[in-house]
Amino acid sequence: MANRRWILRTRPEGDISEGDLELIEVAIPDLDEGEILVRNIYLSVDPTNRIWMSDIDAYMPPVEVGEPMRGRTWGTVIKSRHEGFRAGDVVTGGLIWEEYSVLRHAEAVPMNLGLPLEAFTSVLGPAGMTAFWGLSDIGKPRPGETLVVSAAAGATGSVAGQIGKIMGCRVVGVAGGSLKCGYVTEQLGFDACVDHRAGNLEEQLRQACPEGIDVDFENVGGDVMDAVLGMVNNHARVVLCGLISTYNREGDWWSPRRFRNLLFRRVSMQGLIITDYFPRFAEALPVMADWVGQGRISYRVDVVEGITNAPRALARIFDGNNMGKQLVKLSPAPSDIQP
Ligand code: NDP
Repeated sequence: MANRRWILRTRPEGDISEGDLELIEVAIPDLDEGEILVRNIYLSVDPTNRIWMSDIDAYMPPVEVGEPMRGRTWGTVIKSRHEGFRAGDVVTGGLIWEEYSVLRHAEAVPMNLGLPLEAFTSVLGPAGMTAFWGLSDIGKPRPGETLVVSAAAGATGSVAGQIGKIMGCRVVGVAGGSLKCGYVTEQLGFDACVDHRAGNLEEQLRQACPEGIDVDFENVGGDVMDAVLGMVNNHARVVLCGLISTYNREGDWWSPRRFRNLLFRRVSMQGLIITDYFPRFAEALPVMADWVGQGRISYRVDVVEGITNAPRALARIFDGNNMGKQLVKLSPAPSDIQP
């Protein structure tokens, strides 16, 4: 049995191009005592993949040229040499873009699926946890405040906005295109959504946020963040979660044009890296699972089929073609085989 995996062939310059990544075949080794073999079902592709492809001083070391691409997987155990795991168990823990993963038992986290696996890849996975901790620990919105969330139809933003509604805020999304804005207001229950592709963003935001902005859940940076910083109220909080509009830039990335408003309006801005919160996932999970179970938070996954399409799935995120959590499906999911 062979395993296919993606490796970094060259570091991209600007947008990712064909040839930056290469699909190779590797043998699956025999298992040592304490190891399990997992057939991966879903691979998560994320904006941070682009950060890891560059040789920059980021929050974790880059992927080295010639090394496998890094990314979380969820899959089914097909062989086990550890008493804690049996064939058929669903686990997460793989961190490579590949079809099969050999994991040490300590690396594998069993999934007790009370909800569909897709929920664990999105709203109950790193994206949902980022939304939860970004708001509860940094943004701390109060009822009646205005919360703006950029990339609002995406994996993280869609959850952040819905949590903001539960916390009693007026929630305004920023998304690209009328289809996404319709999804954000009609399906996710945001109070308004402005279309950053339609032009006149500042005017649109002014109309959507008549009382200014108290919390910015920032996923995008660039013109979107500049427009938001132009409208922040005194003592506003910026949850600096992501700057996707800058990840394909070379050299000095980007700085906000309205930086001085942080001074004039006494704004606090704090960066968030979700790995810091891994030890606290267990606190957030039951709360979030309840909200999902009660239908107070909905989620959506955007699935591209097959390992060969993983780079295409990553490109979708940067083109804004994804709606919800971008996944690559590598083998059948439990929901495919249940009656
Ligand atoms: P999404 O599912 O939100 O997909 C990314 C979206 O970003 C696209 O769909 C697109 O939406 C928008 N986008 C892409 N390029 C641009 C651009 N140039 N200008 C404006 N919008 C753009 O991805 P995630 O939820 O996974 O990630 C969202 C952000 O959160 C990213 O910045 C990511 O790095 C960050 N993040 C940070 C984490 C942390 O630990 N700090 C953890 C998880 C995510 P549209 O069509 O609406 O423009």
